[in-house]
Amino acid sequence: MAKQYDVVVIGAGPGGMTAALYASRANLSVLMLDRGIYGGQMNNTAEIENYPGFSSILGPDLGQKMYDGATQFGAEYAYGNVTQVRNQGALKEVITDEDTYLAKAIVIATGADHKKLGVDGEETYSGRGVSYCAVCDGAFFKNRELVVVGGGDSAIEEGLYLTQLASKVTVIHRRDQLRAQQIIQKRAFANDKMNFVWNAQVEAIEGDDMKVTGVKYRDKETGEEHVVPASGAFIYVGVNPLTSAFTDLGILDEAGWVPTDELMATRVPGIFAIGDVRAKNLRQITTAVGEGGQAGQSVFNYIQSLN
Ligand code: FAD
Repeated sequence: MAKQYDVVVIGAGPGGMTAALYASRANLSVLMLDRGIYGGQMNNTAEIENYPGFSSILGPDLGQKMYDGATQFGAEYAYGNVTQVRNQGALKEVITDEDTYLAKAIVIATGADHKKLGVDGEETYSGRGVSYCAVCDGAFFKNRELVVVGGGDSAIEEGLYLTQLASKVTVIHRRDQLRAQQIIQKRAFANDKMNFVWNAQVEAIEGDDMKVTGVKYRDKETGEEHVVPASGAFIYVGVNPLTSAFTDLGILDEAGWVPTDELMATRVPGIFAIGDVRAKNLRQITTAVGEGGQAGQSVFNYIQSLN
């Protein structure tokens, strides 16, 4: 028979672990499910310098501390790749590759995945110069030369952010014009630290075995290869929400993100969403954690309202 909980939290990143902490501390029975190791994206982060309370902490260490906190009031943790959630009204069915669980409420905290370029050196130098988050990693590159790959809003906004830290930012874009909003483009073209390489296909991230030294691209018009020297390559070619398990619930927007109200409630009563998977602006540990606290409280109020 399927095991039943008050709440099943899907995803044990910072958002999910905080929701589990709040819900279990409010005396609810809680199961956290994750298809990887708890900690989420923090496991891929070397140093975190913008989480309050720590001037600097390694991502996996912060993950462990959050896990210890999340489980201290009885929240359980189990491995599980969630493939579907069925809304049966007062009870929700959570289906993994191996098990089915029942819960009065669900918190979706599955995060998002940055699209990769898929070129040589990208994986090798990930965390050693290759980054997908300027707010997270920009400060490690003060007064250095950087490359931003992409031409949409994120690429240009984050490129502008990086100009406050870097000595020079070169945007490498595969087309001959940007896709970013006009106002952002205007700011970018007016910024003398921003440079642009057009019609260029990135071929490789180059390095000296320890860290990034440059980005190699092919000029799509001439076919010539060039290298832009850089200490960091920030890649903004898209972000995917991890929501394929929730498509049947009718809670996703056109791009697959989960919109919620300020109590983290989705369109379906009893289903909440937090962290990077939400339709929102700033995807960070602090925001995931804040939303996790709110969701824990909202779940408590929702379950009270059922009685
Ligand atoms: P995540 O951390 O993404 O966790 C989601 C969890 O859900 C994962 O463990 C995943 O395995 C699990 N999951 C997904 N789908 C399923 C499924 N179907 N079934 C079961 N489990 C599932 N933020 C900062 O604030 N500061 C930084 O310095 C910083 N640096 C970063 C560096 C890198 C390289 C990256 C990639 C991100 C960085 N971030 C940083 C961003 C930060 O890590 C995220 O904003 C944050 O982790 C989001 O938390 P979350 O709980 O929403 O989701």
